[in-house]
Amino acid sequence: MLRYHSTRDPAKALLGFEEALLRGLAPDGGLYLPEQVPQLSPALWRSASSLAEVGVRVLGAWLGKELTFEELEPIVHEALNFPAPLVPLEEGLFVLELFHGPTLSFKDFGARTMARLMQHFLRKRGERRIILVATSGDTGSAVADGFAGQENIQVVLLYPKGLVSEVQERQLIVRRPGVRCFAVEGTFDDCQRLVKEAFVDPELAHLPLSSANSINIGRLLPQALYYLWAARQLESQALNFCVPSGNLGNLTGGVLAALMGQPVQRFIAAHNANRFFPEFLAGRREAFQFYPTLATLSNAMDVGAPSNFERLYHLLGPERLRGWVWGTAVDDEATLAQMRATYERHGYLACPHTAVGLEAALRYRGSTGDPTPIVALATA
Ligand SMILES: *Cc1c(COP(=O)(O)O)cnc(C)c1O
Repeated sequence: MLRYHSTRDPAKALLGFEEALLRGLAPDGGLYLPEQVPQLSPALWRSASSLAEVGVRVLGAWLGKELTFEELEPIVHEALNFPAPLVPLEEGLFVLELFHGPTLSFKDFGARTMARLMQHFLRKRGERRIILVATSGDTGSAVADGFAGQENIQVVLLYPKGLVSEVQERQLIVRRPGVRCFAVEGTFDDCQRLVKEAFVDPELAHLPLSSANSINIGRLLPQALYYLWAARQLESQALNFCVPSGNLGNLTGGVLAALMGQPVQRFIAAHNANRFFPEFLAGRREAFQFYPTLATLSNAMDVGAPSNFERLYHLLGPERLRGWVWGTAVDDEATLAQMRATYERHGYLACPHTAVGLEAALRYRGSTGDPTPIVALATA
């Protein structure tokens, strides 16, 4: 069985996927990582005929000792029942559209898969969970939608009042069975802190709390699948992936895909004005540093202190991280300019998150001259 440990205690507390999934955050406040990433042959995804088939094969390699094929297959097919088309934009630049799920952001991939995996294990154990989630917008609706109506699971959402878009707020507060939603006077960081504190609060220890943020390993693994599906569709050797990033969960999914065996030349971490990670990559920060969150047009990426940094750092270490990932911070003005330019040049309407990615992709190509094809993730 593939075992998982906390980023803060690699030597101890090894547990299986089921346990890591149901706990979410490790008791010491760290994030779960696999002891080692399974090495897979690219033929595994290159011969698959759909994203769901990639999912069954790849997740089967990760979870095979804990779920049978007969259990896993319907979970993955039900969760990943929408397309992820790859749209050519210009020579060497493709857009991977990840917004065709029910709540219109890439978070549907992770949330829907994780909800079904969790429900499977909880039903088997006869247990219940309360999923506590801080959201800057899209996580909440994807999680609420993915988990709603599952008998063994209740969902509690916290979002920063006035800092999500009107469409996002409506998606959050719509009545769903088993879901309660709270608007918090504060930022996303305040919501995130409340969640993190709840997990280590002895007075709340009697509650069966779990998380569904991108800190949960059960959301990360499904987020590796569409990188492999893009590679399958392109049939090119090495690729660059450009990832509009906030909490760095999406990028961590890509790094896991690459560590499994998909050749990736470079990752491009596209951030908005919340620039801790680009600063770190450029060597201007040596370690994790708390940056207060800034509100931007690409608000689902408004994360000052990305949780998954801790995972990436442990997975790759600072040198490999800086060598493999190139980062840039795109402000609102450049975001709007890129939305306009993309529409004028290609007739393609990119959301602000995706536009941050396209701007970063073009900056990367301009500053490095790297001719490797770029797949830019369209996240909403
Ligand atoms: C959540 C989100 C992001 C950022 O993803 P992370 O995994 O937090 O880095 C980017 N775009 C959209 C539309 C999102 O909802």
